[in-house]
Amino acid sequence: MSQNIHAEVVVIGAGPGGYAAAFRAADLGKKVILIDKDADLGGVCLNRGCIPSKALLHIAKVIEEAKALEKSGVTFADPTLDLDAIRSWKESVVSKLSKGIGQLAEARKVQVIQGLATFDSPTQLSVKLENGTQSITFDNCIIATGSRPTTIPNFPTDHPRIINSTGALKLGDIPKRLLVIGGGYIGLEMGSVYNALGTQVTVVEFMPSLLPGADEDLVRPLARKLKKAFENIYLSTKVSKVEPTDNEVTVFFEESDGKEFSEIFDTVLVSVGRKPNTENLGLENAGITLADKGFIPVNVKRQTIVSNIYAIGDITGDPMLAHKATHEGKVAAEVIAELPSAFEPGVIPAVIFTDPEIAWAGPTEMELKEKNIPYEKGEF
Ligand code: FAD
Repeated sequence: MSQNIHAEVVVIGAGPGGYAAAFRAADLGKKVILIDKDADLGGVCLNRGCIPSKALLHIAKVIEEAKALEKSGVTFADPTLDLDAIRSWKESVVSKLSKGIGQLAEARKVQVIQGLATFDSPTQLSVKLENGTQSITFDNCIIATGSRPTTIPNFPTDHPRIINSTGALKLGDIPKRLLVIGGGYIGLEMGSVYNALGTQVTVVEFMPSLLPGADEDLVRPLARKLKKAFENIYLSTKVSKVEPTDNEVTVFFEESDGKEFSEIFDTVLVSVGRKPNTENLGLENAGITLADKGFIPVNVKRQTIVSNIYAIGDITGDPMLAHKATHEGKVAAEVIAELPSAFEPGVIPAVIFTDPEIAWAGPTEMELKEKNIPYEKGEF
């Protein structure tokens, strides 16, 4: 065990919540340590989320636009895809931004430590390093350990033909037929990427519409377009079983009326939500208990039940979005610096980068109806 170090603010997790919090705290004059178990800074968003998916969606958009020009009398040859080159371009985008975060940390004298952090007490952490353990005592700690893909109980998780969003972004190959389980935004964005690269995509969604929870008027034009672009979209349908072999995956479906059928795919992308990273953090040693679904409860200042420990980002619940995490991070840092800050958003905007893109802010029409809130509707 190396000698104990002390910080005024320790941030666990260097995603868009954690690094924003660390930088704001340093800008406000605090001595800050930023810990992440990964060598590459930037968290899920930068390394295996927003940034690589948007880089690939950019390629998808250009391919689709070139195709659409046929209607205007301009015809391009079919694109040639050099997967290795696409992959290294995407990785170069990610790595440039990740290094940029390292430089921003250095410029602010934020000490970055790579290792897995666990609470020993409400004022002390142990960080498991590659070689050994580092003990850190702190005045304040901000937990920003984010989330990871949810798995489906009893479905294989370590088979190469059954992937999650992280696997899909690796772009291992371009499957001929891909099944996306889950019609949420991550599933639809990744489905759109693979569809543009030549895969026949099927989406299966348990709920009666794509993007459950989004405003129906917004979803309709997208659903119409995807219905044409994708091979199939099965709504009100669940996957009851998957049977992968070396060469294919047999998938068994069950419709809401009980009808059953099966189909064969090359790859299955499981995209059924994300769950918070709270395990192995030693939260019990800090005196923090979890709310329903495993999120860490906080007040508007982002304080947990233990007043010198804050929590921000995906680990505190929906909506799990990068800009929400960043803003919460700034609030936590400002509260620690005794500024009058609080996270009390009127609305949080959300964007889905499909084609057409969808964006909204505030309650949906359905929510207003459910809560009996009078509203006026405009459509154009
Ligand atoms: P994360 O980004 O999850 O970072 C947490 C960090 O904590 C990780 O680096 C992890 O290694 C580290 N960590 C965890 N436990 C420990 C520990 N014990 N010790 C040390 N380190 C630890 N959001 C948007 O707003 N727009 C988008 O377009 C968008 N696209 C997305 C596309 C995909 C495919 C995915 C998966 C997500 C997307 N998101 C998007 C969501 C966004 O990525 C998350 O909301 C955001 O990353 C949450 O940030 P965070 O700081 O809470 O945590």
